[in-house]
Amino acid sequence: MKAKITLLPGDGIGPEVVEAASELLKTVGEVFGHKFEMDSYLIGGCAIDEYKSPLPEKTLKACEDADAILLGAVGGLKWDDPSAKVRPEQGLLGLRKNLDLYANLRPVLPHPDLVSASPLKKEYLEGVDMLVVRELTGGIYFGQPRHRQSVNGETQAVDTMVYKTSEIERAARLAFSLAHERKNKVSSIDKSNVLETSRLWRETVSSVSKEYPSVILEHLLVDAAAMHLLTRPSDFDVIVTSNLFGDILTDEASVLTGSMGNMPSASLGSKKNSFGLPLGLYEPIHGSAPDIAGKGVANPIGTILSSALLLRHSLGLEEEAKALENAVDVTLNTGIRTADIATQEKEPVSTEKMTAKIIENFDQLEIISG
Ligand code: NAD
Repeated sequence: MKAKITLLPGDGIGPEVVEAASELLKTVGEVFGHKFEMDSYLIGGCAIDEYKSPLPEKTLKACEDADAILLGAVGGLKWDDPSAKVRPEQGLLGLRKNLDLYANLRPVLPHPDLVSASPLKKEYLEGVDMLVVRELTGGIYFGQPRHRQSVNGETQAVDTMVYKTSEIERAARLAFSLAHERKNKVSSIDKSNVLETSRLWRETVSSVSKEYPSVILEHLLVDAAAMHLLTRPSDFDVIVTSNLFGDILTDEASVLTGSMGNMPSASLGSKKNSFGLPLGLYEPIHGSAPDIAGKGVANPIGTILSSALLLRHSLGLEEEAKALENAVDVTLNTGIRTADIATQEKEPVSTEKMTAKIIENFDQLEIISG
């Protein structure tokens, strides 16, 4: 296979973790006989510095022309002024909107050897294997009007939460079809006791569920769901929820895996690539971590696992994706840890060392299996 992968390293630790994942993709290509053409483009803060735009034309074009996109993270103290008109995260929101990436998939599957890195008791983590589907291009992050105004001498800020039936339907359909391949359960999360958009969400998800009679549907209010995620996490299979609730709940769910540094994500939409598969954007769930940027200590696993999702969903390479996930598993089994997941007994390793070990294990597993 010959595939075009656009790399968007971004800011902070983004370039460090994308470099690690691209080395793994290169190794996958060499072992399985694929050619991955990988070129890097600017997005976020570094793009503002260079082009005064967080999503330069050149970057957007390279993403539109790609088979898949791998992103690090955007943002940092330098561009953090909340009153600035041009901000790094506009690059990411613009990319989601332009490529119509309407659903973000976040698997939550704690590695058994990392149970001690989670603040939750071991017995709560047993059997946890969930997939969160977050609606990504609607809701309060995009609704209009949004502005500030002066009312009776004080400042008032306005954001708008809007959902159309079609936006809810496509996220729900994706969640039900994914549940169909897993444990046949969908938990839909809303705030329908208070919000009109949530009442439409609940009605629409219920109506879509009729197309999937073998999948069990439960509705939960977001406040209760936030609690259940910590008290009975193994009861969840696929969760489907709106943009705002999904943003918050997925960070909460990351605690189950021990560190945000471990968690991958895939954003999929309506656009297809040259293989007729979804043109997806793959990125770790963490941000640019300015506190550790440039120190060479970032955990690259979330980005490496995101590249496994890229192989699976955008390139249709299931065997290669599994091999990559397996190499990460085996590496963690050996006890090697970056600082964010390290225990006190062992010295943490650098990003470079962790990456080299995963590559080594990938090569060895492939020699043994084939
Ligand atoms: P963050 O995720 O960057 O960091 C939170 C904490 O987790 C920090 O202590 C950091 O050191 C640690 N951490 C994160 N990823 C890690 C990794 N791979 N290895 C080891 N430790 C890791 O969140 P934040 O501090 O709230 O935000 C920092 C910047 O990132 C802000 O400018 C924010 O806007 C941006 N951000 C970007 C994205 C994105 O690009 N998708 C997402 C969230 C935040």
